Amino acid sequence: MQGPLRGSVHRFVLGDTEITTILDGAFPMGISPPFMLDKSAEDVERIATNVNLPTDRLENNFVPVVVNTGDALVLIDTGFGKSKRDGGAGHLRPLLHDAGYAPEDIDVVFITHAHPDHIGGLWEDGDLAFPNAQLMIGRQEFDAWKSGDGIPEQRAENRAMFLKVVAPLEDKFRFIEDGDEIATGVTAQAAFGHSPGHMMVRVESAGQQALIWSDVANHYVFSVEHPESTVGFDDDKEMAIATRKRVLAETAESGVLVVGHHMPFPSVGYVQRNGDSLRWVPATYQLRI
Ligand SMILES: [Zn+2]
Repeated sequence: MQGPLRGSVHRFVLGDTEITTILDGAFPMGISPPFMLDKSAEDVERIATNVNLPTDRLENNFVPVVVNTGDALVLIDTGFGKSKRDGGAGHLRPLLHDAGYAPEDIDVVFITHAHPDHIGGLWEDGDLAFPNAQLMIGRQEFDAWKSGDGIPEQRAENRAMFLKVVAPLEDKFRFIEDGDEIATGVTAQAAFGHSPGHMMVRVESAGQQALIWSDVANHYVFSVEHPESTVGFDDDKEMAIATRKRVLAETAESGVLVVGHHMPFPSVGYVQRNGDSLRWVPATYQLRI
């Protein structure tokens, strides 16, 4: 008996780019909290049961993305880093090898927001984990965490981590505004709320598009099917709900391919209307034929 086995590296081609999703880690947590804080225990149980999910726990997936434009290798978020490597996550850097890359190959590291599962892998044993990369982060995100303005009390530990991990790199960062291009055909877009300056990334190549929405929606049922529900992880809960509804409506309308940091690995799919609701539809072979 060898226990469960699953792949941790997945790649697809989009136009003239290659997009690789890498499972930094996965571990179980409760459902509510953090999700559906506005729902009763009975509602949560019913919603989970309806989609054949356990009613007391979920498995969160953590999935950084590598975009290869042909000219640049762009890493979107860095995972938890080495400190969590014995705790079910932090595997991005060793797994890069399985994707055919070395940490030194990464040209750009873009941080979508400063939560621990996105910034923890910036360093490895006291050195920059991706030593040749131009670091980038949203201007609004960096400024908020540096000043502490708009950072909720529950993020005190997270802010201490930011000050230790990200703030000392201020001189090395290029600061990104809404709509800025971080590589050819790769554009950062404001999606504030989950954190004060949270950004997502749109990839366009040869007439095709993908939206790497980072943490706009953080569970494929509890967030995508119930975007109005309150989520403990969201720093500004009302703004996060408004952003989630807006982005989900756009993705359902346009049919754009979505890559979501916390969607079930390989974390690639579509948002579709399902009556009055929405649903996450994992990509299957659409990208291969
Ligand atoms: Zn996250």
